[in-house]
Amino acid sequence: MERRSFMKKAGTGAIIAGAALAGAPAVHAAKKYRWKMVTTWPKNFPGLGTGANHLAKLINDMSGGRIVVKVYGAGELVPAFESFDAVSRGTAEIGHGAAYYWKGKSAATQFFAAVPFGLNAQEMAGWIHYGGGQQLWDELYGQFNLKPFAAGSTGVQMGGWFNKEINTMDDLKGLKMRMPGLGAEVLSKAGATPVSLPGGEIFPSLQSGAIDATEWVGPYNDLAFGFYRVAKYYYWPGWHEPGTVLESFVNKKAFEGLPKDLQAIVTAAMGAAYVDMLSEFTTKNNSSLVELVTKHNVVLKRFSDDILKKLGQFSKEVVEGVAEQDAMSKKVYDSFNSFRKQSISWGEIGEVGFSLARALTFKS
Ligand code: CA
Repeated sequence: MERRSFMKKAGTGAIIAGAALAGAPAVHAAKKYRWKMVTTWPKNFPGLGTGANHLAKLINDMSGGRIVVKVYGAGELVPAFESFDAVSRGTAEIGHGAAYYWKGKSAATQFFAAVPFGLNAQEMAGWIHYGGGQQLWDELYGQFNLKPFAAGSTGVQMGGWFNKEINTMDDLKGLKMRMPGLGAEVLSKAGATPVSLPGGEIFPSLQSGAIDATEWVGPYNDLAFGFYRVAKYYYWPGWHEPGTVLESFVNKKAFEGLPKDLQAIVTAAMGAAYVDMLSEFTTKNNSSLVELVTKHNVVLKRFSDDILKKLGQFSKEVVEGVAEQDAMSKKVYDSFNSFRKQSISWGEIGEVGFSLARALTFKS
């Protein structure tokens, strides 16, 4: 085709397309969806609140502005722990939190956030996306008019901050420790006194001696909170939160009311947000741990095998107790437990096997 006639043809096409657009009825214009996102985090809270912001931005950008998500920090639109109900009834279209906050709705929710001695971040993603977890989660949250997604992960957490060494199970007896969720029930069995405190109250409570110990997240968030100023020993591993999943839940009718391409965009944004948060935590945990040890002289300690074995046994009992609470919890537990069973062999020779091999030659 000669350039001249091509230009002519292309020009004609452009005019026709323009005319079609101009003459199109208004309903053909892309519909805009304005969504309110309620969160369980203080606005812009490092890692978690910023993770919610990032998810909102992904949805806005990927949809070319057809969905505009406005993020509200905890308490701005509804209190933190009313996010679930607010999205369920449609006061807001989308929420961001962690599933174990909703154990009052159903004990089964806890399997989708963190289980002591449960699954790490890679395994949680495996279970949810390929091991039947998402279907069960949909069934569970569907009862509340919600569509749930894995939208972030802290990776494995740390065991916590202590002002005395924990050498035997006796050292845990009577210890007042901030610990949420199923980990708190395990600590209770060990004779400690778990205390539930929101993030902002932990530092002053540890400083005043109102609590003896605390867990929070990992080096990144714990450095930001300054726990090294009021506690000396930093224990690992975070047996109680091996790969905590951050969730986003969408009002089911709002999600199903989206055209298919926007549903796909929201779903893809959730997956991208999961990887992004895990990547951020990995990078910042690495550098923050170095800073805690070299700059702030934090003493790192590992719980002994004996302590971990006993906590593991208590965890088994606690989680089996969750399964007994109702039929749905039993169904989710069975799926989770069989995935964990399968994960153990590959986990040991895969990630753990490699890490141990690397440590033979390469030191920090
Ligand atoms: Ca934690």
